[in-house]
Amino acid sequence: MTEMTRRHLLGAAAATAVAPLAAAPAFATAPVAGKQVPTYYRSKLGDFEITVVSDGARPIPLPPRFVLNVPNEEVLKAAEAAYMPKGTVFAPFNPIVVNTGSKLVLIDTGYGPIAPTVGMLPQSLAAAGIDPKTIDIVLISHMHGDHINGIKNPDGSLAFPNAEIKVPAVDWTYWMDDGNMAKASEGFFKASFGFNRKIFGDMKDKVTRFDWGKEVAPGIISVETAGHTPGHTSFVIASGSSKLFFQGDVSNAPALFLTNPDWQIMFDSEPDKAIATRRRVYDMAAAEKMFIAGYHFPFPGLGWVEKAGTGYRLVPAPWNPVI
Ligand SMILES: [Zn+2]
Repeated sequence: MTEMTRRHLLGAAAATAVAPLAAAPAFATAPVAGKQVPTYYRSKLGDFEITVVSDGARPIPLPPRFVLNVPNEEVLKAAEAAYMPKGTVFAPFNPIVVNTGSKLVLIDTGYGPIAPTVGMLPQSLAAAGIDPKTIDIVLISHMHGDHINGIKNPDGSLAFPNAEIKVPAVDWTYWMDDGNMAKASEGFFKASFGFNRKIFGDMKDKVTRFDWGKEVAPGIISVETAGHTPGHTSFVIASGSSKLFFQGDVSNAPALFLTNPDWQIMFDSEPDKAIATRRRVYDMAAAEKMFIAGYHFPFPGLGWVEKAGTGYRLVPAPWNPVI
């Protein structure tokens, strides 16, 4: 067997670069496409069909304190070790459509077109052959902009006009309270209150508030995972003996926050509670080998969590062309 060394690789690259001059092939030059395609990923869960429908992804340039209890240099080192674009933390957004057989349920709705590489849920739904008018129920894990903004189109009309919109009752009480908004710190938290008013301000009577431990759609149970927001909710989606745990933002990017579950991301409302929730959820997930959907995990965000070192690691589900 030939021994592969760095010199071999560089040598091979140089040879490739020279080759066309030596023997010009008679192939036409294809223009590069230069853009990504709308993206979705389908799989089966018991009798249910799950479609992860990408809203896009976004490199986040770090604000001064992205993780409250760790300097940015350390965060960027971890991001770089995970091959994220230099100087940023890379966050995908993965809403999910669950077809239960009787209802079409969308869990979280993406960011809306606030930046060029997000707000792509409508295109991804179209590519997946899912008509927004056929969505029966929209479930919201928590009331942050990147999960609720897609409820409305940019012109203010409802993106899912026939859907019942269901949000965690505790989050509703917190985010729709004007007193809380007045007290909110500038930046992310003020902006989050603003998003909630923009989306929900004129539909207070049309939104269903749900409690934890309830069946919020056929086969889908709401589970308390508070800390990231006061009402942060996960969903257990179950059909037959198959289960999927939609974890919302129990952690953001796994390369950062599964590896370092005690890091306090600046978006957490109650950082200590968020850490306790994270450890509780992942200890259980690891013990039960629970199948997990991560809204901010690398697309399509499906996999398992194992204990690793002082934290955890994600084992992504292998891509499967068969449903
Ligand atoms: Zn989020």
